[in-house]
Formats: sequence, structure tokens, C-alpha cells
Amino acid sequence: MSEGRQMSDPILSVRQAVKTYGRFRALDAVDLDIRKGEFLTLLGPSGSGKTTLLSAIAGFTALDSGAVHARGADISRLPPEKRDFAMVFQGYALFPTMTVAENVGYPLRVRRWAKPALQERVRECLDLVQMGQFADRMPTQLSGGQQQRIALARALSFRPDVLLLDEPLSALDKKLRADLQWELKALHERLGVTFVYVTHDQDEALSMSDRIVILKDGAIQQEGQPGELYDWPRTRFVANFLGKSNFIEARMTGREGAHLVAEAAGQKFAVKPTAGVAETGAGCLALRPERIRLGHPGEEPFTGRVRQISYLGERCQVLVDHDVLGEVLVSQPTWHAGVRPEPRMDVSFGWDADACVPLTDA
Ligand code: ADP
Ligand code: MG
Repeated sequence: MSEGRQMSDPILSVRQAVKTYGRFRALDAVDLDIRKGEFLTLLGPSGSGKTTLLSAIAGFTALDSGAVHARGADISRLPPEKRDFAMVFQGYALFPTMTVAENVGYPLRVRRWAKPALQERVRECLDLVQMGQFADRMPTQLSGGQQQRIALARALSFRPDVLLLDEPLSALDKKLRADLQWELKALHERLGVTFVYVTHDQDEALSMSDRIVILKDGAIQQEGQPGELYDWPRTRFVANFLGKSNFIEARMTGREGAHLVAEAAGQKFAVKPTAGVAETGAGCLALRPERIRLGHPGEEPFTGRVRQISYLGERCQVLVDHDVLGEVLVSQPTWHAGVRPEPRMDVSFGWDADACVPLTDA
């Protein structure tokens, strides 16, 4: 987020949004504030209600109850065209019989712009997405990535203050998707437009967003900045949906200084204190695979045996069996100078004091 942009005023608010299909609740009392200029991502598995929520904001889906507010007014009853948000969808539905320039100029023609101003804006928008030289092509003469760039230019042509994007990159291959992620992010920084971005791809969400809202079963599970969510998941679902996690069943034995003390497999260790977590009694801890150190037997507190190793290029994942903790997943850089794990090797493992996060749904 660039400095100086106002992060406090919500440009959009969703209040107690409920949407049902028969007896099924696609949205279950969703409350959401979207700040002016932010890149907000709605992240969740397929069927979690992301599209329904975006579509309710856009005005294509009518809520059963609840409201959408924008720029200080209740817009729940306004049709999509009166809300003046721009949208980009997964299918980059360009008008097939119009040229690229005609596609990009379409929202301006609808708004009855005069030709010279319209042509200038179209040129500007095509340059913005580096497609200036394709103005006279037809959509069928473009690749998927190029078509999606044009869809983006068309959405931005009338300079909307909010851009709604529903999985705009999911139809593209991995490399192209990564390139366009950078471009979208750069575009957001340059234009100061509020982006509400829907994806089911956690890496995409982590790399692009100022803030992520995690949806499950039509309800918000947790929201926060990418690093904050990754480091402080509150539930098993979030810990596993955003990255990978080990779960350790532990007994909490109280507070010691700034930390809580947990006990598992006969070892006591410090964990992060977390709001809403009981300081004594049974608890569940989330532990990121990359926070675990491997050592030779005796070097670290826990001892186990390597079951399986998989090389992923820059990282290497090691599955270690422990008598009490069960299967422990460790992820270490391939260049790591410490232990070189081999299958059936005895290893020790351990972690630093703030590596374990107590969960609220233990
Ligand atoms: P997502 O975008 O997160 O994959 P959706 O918002 O599209 O999820 O859908 C949420 C849930 O609502 C899904 O279980 C889906 O089947 C259901 N749903 C969405 N639209 C309709 C509809 N028009 N009729 C019936 N069920 C629907
Ligand atoms: Mg969807």
C-alpha cells in the first residue's frame, strides 16, 4: 500500500448480508468494510460464497436481508449499472464482433462520451495494459492473457473508483498468471483504485493483497494482512488453507513471562499467547513446517525417524514419524547446510519459542 492513501474511510460496506438458495445459506450474515484504495482479496475454497458476495456488491445478486453501502449511501436496491463499479470476470467475455479498441471504448459509448475524448481514453487504457499496438485486432486474434488485459482495460476505461475482479487469472497457465499478478498489482499501485479481488488460490492472495478475507461456508473465518494471517491463524481451517501446518495436541500449563507454556510428548515449550485461547487445559497448536529445525539425534528436543522426502526445487519437504506427535512435516531450503535427511534416518527436531500458535477451535 503506498503512503498517503487514506486507509480509514470505508468506500464499501456489507452489513449482515444473507443469501439463501432454498434451505442452503450461500452467505451467512457477512459483515465487511472495504477501505478506499486497498487491494482486498476474498479467499476461500470453491463454494464458500466468494462469487455470491462479489455479485451482491456488484448488484447482480439480490440479498435476502442485509445491505450494501457505498460512498455513504445504501445501494442495496440499485441496479448494477447505477452502482458504477467495474467488473472483470474469469471468462474475459469480450464482445467478439468488436475490435479491441471498440471493446475498450464500449463503457464510454454507453456513457455517451464524445469521440475525441473517447479515442484518447481508449489509447491511454490500451497503453496502460501494454496493448497499444493491438487496437485494431479482433478478440479471436488474441491469446488468453492478451484478452484478459483487454478486459481489464475495458473495465478501467471509465475510471471507476472500485474494480471487482472474480478469478480473472484462473483460466491462464501458471507462468502467465504470475506475470499478470505483478501487472495487476502494479496497476493497483499506480491508479489508486479500490480492488476487490476473488480467488481460491492462496499464493495469489498472499502475494497481491493488502488485506485478505477468508471465507468458508458463506461466513468470514478470519481477515488480516497476508503476513498477519499466515503467522497468526486462529482456526485449523485457516492454518491449513493458507499454507501448510502441523497440528500438535498439547496441554497448556499456564503463563511464564511473555509466553504460554505447552506440554506435548513429554517436552515443555513456549508458545505465542493468543487472544481467546485458554491458558490451561487441552489445546491445539499450529506449527508451520518451515519453522521446524532438523538436527542429528540429541541436538533438538524431539526424536523421530524420516519416512519420506520430496524435493521441490528450492525447498525440500521431509516427513518425520514421531511416536506421540505422529507425522510431522518439515520444510527446509534445499541449500540448507545442516542435516541431509535420508529415508529411515533417525533425526531430532525442534523449534523456536514463537513458532507454535494456539488455535481457538482446539
Ligand atoms: P465460490 O465463488 O466461492 O466458489 P459461490 O458464491 O459461487 O462460491 O457459491 C456459493 C454456494 O452457493 C455454492 O454452494 C453454490 O452451489 C451455491 N449457489 C450459487 N449460486 C446459486 C444458484 N443460483 N442457485 C443455487 N445455488 C447457488
Ligand atoms: Mg466463484
